[in-house]
Amino acid sequence: MFVLERDQLTGASVGLSLAEAHALLASIQEAVVCAQVTVAVAEQRCCSRCGRAHRHKDTRTITVRTLFGTLHPDSPRFLACPCRTDGLEAPATFSPLTAILAGRSTPELVYLQACTAEDRQGSRAAEKGDSSSDPAAEGAAHDQRRVVSQFVGA
Ligand SMILES: [Zn+2]
Repeated sequence: MFVLERDQLTGASVGLSLAEAHALLASIQEAVVCAQVTVAVAEQRCCSRCGRAHRHKDTRTITVRTLFGTLHPDSPRFLACPCRTDGLEAPATFSPLTAILAGRSTPELVYLQACTAEDRQGSRAAEKGDSSSDPAAEGAAHDQRRVVSQFVGA
């Protein structure tokens, strides 16, 4: 849960700090993901072929990395419906979330991490004297990526 406390308005206390914005977005992200997970699991609770409810085997947690924090939602495993396992070599259990969130990282996070890594390589090249591109544009891009990487903890 996100709580914002302020004593007195000052130049330093006006608005949100970067850390507070990060905490607020992380809190919202957790609530959004929790709601999405609940709906996704409910949608696969019953067999799509015969309509019977899948039997619950156990629940584990999975790690999901997002731009606004790393989450560990519960990931139930269900026993496959007998109508699908009779005479077939189907898996005995399945977990809806591990199938849906197979990548475990959101595309935005993967992209920004790649940009940050690329930027770091560019900075190292610049330190070695490679000045083949526009330093002003690279500086602005570097500043923007630095703020994002601080925000995501990369
Ligand atoms: Zn079935």
